[in-house]
Amino acid sequence: MAATRTFSIIKPDATRRNLTGAVTKMLEDAGLRVVASKRIHMTKDQAEGFYGVHRERPFFNDLVAFMTSGPVVVQVLEGENAVAKNREVMGATNPANAEEGTIRKTYAESIEANSVHGSDSPENAEIEIRFFFKPEEIVG
Ligand code: ATP
Ligand code: MG
Repeated sequence: MAATRTFSIIKPDATRRNLTGAVTKMLEDAGLRVVASKRIHMTKDQAEGFYGVHRERPFFNDLVAFMTSGPVVVQVLEGENAVAKNREVMGATNPANAEEGTIRKTYAESIEANSVHGSDSPENAEIEIRFFFKPEEIVG
């Protein structure tokens, strides 16, 4: 089957605890390949744009504040069924509900500070990759 791509963020709670390598290892061990990666400090505009679908949710302002509270690592991941595979290794949004062995069960601090983002569909993966990366920054 052809390789597909998804978009991942290692969130500020994880970079603060020096877990960039540990989280990336779990992604790689799950069969995903990092084909683009950069450490950035998101602006408020970027965070509001990226999480625009959640604008009406009560946690929106806190989420934007959290995502701009420190550096993040944005990545493009490639592999068979990349979106589904990444969501599986991430675990449930709330770490209390996440399966053993998942990134969020292992590392997340709370439902907000949950260590990683991953695209929820191939369509959104394409939009999110384009939001942060130029085509020439992705090297498969
Ligand atoms: P992500 O989009 O970050 O990969 P997700 O798809 O598992 O996570 P979403 O429902 O898209 O979850 O929510 C986006 C992010 O908003 C969550 O990862 C979490 O950081 C935050 N969030 C979601 N629900 C809540 C909540 N009830 N309270 C606080 N923060 C929340
Ligand atoms: Mg989501």
